[in-house]
This record gives sequence, structure tokens and C-alpha cells, in this order.
Amino acid sequence: MCGIIACTGYRDVAPILVEGLKALEYRGYDSAGVAVVFDGAISVHKLAGRVDALAKLVKAQPPKGTTGVGHTRWATHGAVTDQNAHPHTSTDGSVAVVHNGIVENYLELKAELAARGCVFRSETDTEVIAHLIDGFMKDGDDLAAAMCKMARRIRGAAAVVAVSAAEPDKVAGLRLGNAGGVVCGYGDGENLLASDLLALLRHTNRIAYLESGEVALATTDRIEVTDLNGTRVSRQPVVVDRTYEAAAKGAFPHFMAKEISEQPEAVTASLRQRVNFDRGEIALPDFPLSEAEIRRLENVVLVGMGSSMHAAMVGGYLAEALAGIPARVDNSSEFRYRNPAVGHNTLVIAVTQSGETADTLAAMEEALGRGARRIAVTEIEGSQATRMAEGSVFLRAGQEIGVAATKTMACSVVVLTLIALHLAVRRGRLSADAQRAAVEELAKLPRLMAGLAGLDSQLERLAQSIKGRDHLLYLGRGPLYPIALEGALKMKEIAYIHAEGYAAGEMKHGVNALISRTMPTIAIATRGPLYEKMFSNINEVKARGGEVIALATEGDEAMDRVADHVVYLPDASELITPLLALVPMQLLAYHTAVGLGLDPDKPRNLAKTVTVE
Ligand code: GLU
Repeated sequence: MCGIIACTGYRDVAPILVEGLKALEYRGYDSAGVAVVFDGAISVHKLAGRVDALAKLVKAQPPKGTTGVGHTRWATHGAVTDQNAHPHTSTDGSVAVVHNGIVENYLELKAELAARGCVFRSETDTEVIAHLIDGFMKDGDDLAAAMCKMARRIRGAAAVVAVSAAEPDKVAGLRLGNAGGVVCGYGDGENLLASDLLALLRHTNRIAYLESGEVALATTDRIEVTDLNGTRVSRQPVVVDRTYEAAAKGAFPHFMAKEISEQPEAVTASLRQRVNFDRGEIALPDFPLSEAEIRRLENVVLVGMGSSMHAAMVGGYLAEALAGIPARVDNSSEFRYRNPAVGHNTLVIAVTQSGETADTLAAMEEALGRGARRIAVTEIEGSQATRMAEGSVFLRAGQEIGVAATKTMACSVVVLTLIALHLAVRRGRLSADAQRAAVEELAKLPRLMAGLAGLDSQLERLAQSIKGRDHLLYLGRGPLYPIALEGALKMKEIAYIHAEGYAAGEMKHGVNALISRTMPTIAIATRGPLYEKMFSNINEVKARGGEVIALATEGDEAMDRVADHVVYLPDASELITPLLALVPMQLLAYHTAVGLGLDPDKPRNLAKTVTVE
């Protein structure tokens, strides 16, 4: 989950590391640190806290040296303390390492290393890595060979980067399994390793990815990649078509507010060249299955975690409804440990905005092992998910810094809607007229989404009354049920208010017992096939003394008479209403968090890219 950046070159490395960590901070932000090699020694600056605090520390006592490594931590083993922050060093301080992932056998290794005299200074699982590498180097191995040997001793998925005082102009990186990527950046007179492309773009757009079981050794003039036996692997850098954009909030107080407001533009990008607005047709050029293969599909399984799973639920609903294909949605972490019934004619759609979500990658591996067809729905080109899939449909949301997914969630829903339509057309389930009608709806989406900005002040007012509550209930049906789940998730993750999302039909089977004046219900009850059912549910909540905030369709006066507050959405079809309902959910959570004095961009205990299971 952490962020890693390392560099060896000709310039003072500390500012490069700190800048890189700022670009990566969204991945994990409980602690930060750098280690810099100079004159046969390694100096470490690290602390519990944000990268800004590290930047001050580094500025006050700037380390000299042109080779070093930096890390932002998302703790798994050991509390958030200065001592547990990375980099971790060997007993004599001659090796420093940073690590992403979990060393599953660290207790066993720790006992063995301590018995050999290694001095442990932290409670992390990571520290064994520094001692192992140091031990192999003391026995005569060079840094790269020691990294390979260390890789054979640890269990679990990991990304590791290490420096050694004995080899002052080298940085070694390792990828084992799916604990996040290691991206090599080929610069001019300097080379870099990082966990994420974003940290490299300021310096180079020539990059290469490490595969699992590979080690990269960067020096100032080259990066050599080997397998764990030390055999050279040929790896040519590719030029990525992305330029460095400093993450800036502009006039917005938070990235989350900026990213919510960018959604009309983001969904337009998702639709581009996939929807032919003139001809009224949908075609996904990047979809890897031919029409004959699509016709042969027996079922679709969508996997994801968090907001991506909610997007997958909307996609599954639409795939079944439009393409007439059985569609199941699964939490990746459940799917991977079951004995899932998927075969050659199953299409597994993995939804992961980062392309690095550990559980979703494991679910893809499971699908691969069973011979299923696989596509990835992701933002990040070159990410591990794209390499495990037969093809990818990219979100094109643009960089999202806020930890709570907003525009990536919206774009995931758009892409999955397009996939459902693409399948429906290729399976002969959608007439030309129906396809044209769908295109007309999609054409309206950016404009209607942009218009929702007008709801901001109403949602800010509603947030004032919500922020004192301890519990909230979110209700929806059909494709709006996942949006209710997403609304509850946003409220939990950034405002820390307990919120539950429910399929409204489930209320009578237990949840009605909770209805009271102190727990508001947020009900998505826009016009559509299930409107009347939702209207009855809202009446039932009111009859039991509950307070209701309803999301309804413009002109629905009946709703105004029943609900305590109504947020009106523009009239639209079932195809795009989930996307319109999503925005007020995001704004309500955002204003509640801000009203409570919380930072919505960096919610406690969370990180954006979840590379541990
Ligand atoms: N397991 C390591 C720790 O707790 C690494 C965590 C991370 O990925 O940031 O320090």
C-alpha cells in the first residue's frame, strides 16, 4: 500500500525523494522516510507523520548524496511510530530497505536472525529484510545477488527496494507476487525505481515494469533486470504517453471537491471513441473478445473491492438486463478463496482503479487458472491488472488524489455500462433503435452531471444536520442499490459515521427495527420501474417515525409531501440515473466530513491503493 521512490544519479537525491513521496502520499501516509548513501555510510531521516513533516526534517538537516530511497508507510505490522517508519537498516546501518507488503514468516526469520546477533530496532515485519540482505552481503554477495537470496527466504507478496553503503551508486528493487508494482524509470544520467508511474513522470516517461520474481539493479547509466537466479532478462523501456502534472487543488479546498467537479469531463473522456454519437452506435475498440467469442459466453463474473465492487454491481445488473447473460458480482477477496465455478466460457471482468489491488489480482489469477476470459477495467496503463488481462478498457478519469474514489468510480460505472451495451449489441439483444436510445442517453450524461453542481449548497445544508448523527441508513433498488452502498461507504470512510446501505426490499426482514428519529434514511427513489416500490418503503420509514432524505426526479411533488427533504435529480433513464445519483452521495459525505473538521482527502487508516490483502 505504501509508496516507494528510489534514485541514483548525479544530483542531490534527497529533494528528488521527497518530491516523489509527495506524489505518492495518497498510497499511504502514516509515516515517511528517506535513506541516502554518502561516503561509505547511510543516513536515515524518518518519522511518523506526513511527507510535509519529513520535508521539514530533511530541509533542516539535508543529507548529502546522489543515491537513496524513500517510503510512505501504511502500517501492517507494528504501530505508527518513528521507529517503525521505513527505511529500516541492518545492525551496522550498512543496508537500508523499504518494503511494500507483508513478510508472512517474519517471526520465524526474526528469531533466527536475532540468534545470530542481529539487533532489531522496530516492530515491523520489514526489518528482517535488511538483516537478511546484510547477512548475504557480509558473506560475499553483491547487492543484487543478496536481494535474490533474500527473496527466497521471505514468504508473501512484496515490493522491496534496497541500498547499501558498500555499493554507493546502486539501487536494487524486487517484485514478488502482487504487493504493488516496481516501475523502472530511465532518466538522463540517472535512473529511478518507484511503486507508481506518477512518482517518475517528473523525471522521465521512459519506463518498464518488473514482473513477479524479478530484480532490477539501477546504476546511473543503466537498469539491469534479472530473475531470482541472476539470469539477465531483456527489458526495453516503453515511452508512456503521459506528462507530469503537479497535483494541484487549484481553487478547491480539497482534492475530493475538485475531483467530484471534474466528473463531467472525466465521463466524457470515458465515452470518447467508444460511442459514435452520429450513428447511434456503441463499439469498444479495445475489447479483446470477438463477436463470436462474445456469443459463446455463458456467464460474466465481475470482481472488485470497495467502490470498484459497487461499480461492478451496477455493471452486473446492466449486463444481465441488457445482454441477457447471467452476471454475478463478487468481492475479489471472497472469489479468490472459493472454488468458483468459472470456465472457458466465463468472462471475468476485474474492476480496479489502481490496477494493483492485491485481492483483485489474486482473483484474476484464479480466473486464469480456470481458463476463463479476462478483462481489466482500470485507470492505470501498464498496471499489473492490465498485464494479467487479455485486454483492458481504460477509465480515462485522470489522476485521482483523494483517497475516497469519486471520478474513478463514476468512470468505472460508465465503462461497465458501455461493456454491458457492447455485449448486448454483439449478442443480438439490442435493436438498432434501442442502441440509438442508449447513445442519446449517454450523450446527455456530461451535461446532466455538470448541472448537479447546483445541488452543492442544498447538500451542504443537509450535511449540517447529518454531522451530529451516529447512524445513517441508505436505501436503493435495482442499479441504484449499489449507489446506496456507495453513499454509505463514502460516509463511513471520510466522515467516520456509521452508515448502512440496504436493498430497500430487505427492510422488513430486520432493519425496520432500527428505524427511529435519530437515524436518518437516505432513499434513492428516482422515477423508473421500481419507483412505486421505493415510494412504499419511504412511507414505511415515515410511518415508524423515521426521518427521510429522498433523491427523487424533478417534478415529483408527491415525494415532497412524504419525505422530510428532497434532493431533485434531472429526469433520465435507468441507464444513466445511477451516475446522476452518485454525485449527491459524494457531496453529502464530503460536506459532512468537512463540517466535522476532517480531511476528506486523507481519511484515517485508509490508503488509496490496497496492495495487501
Ligand atoms: N508491512 C510493512 C510495515 O508494516 C510495510 C507496510 C507498507 O506497505 O507500507 O511496515
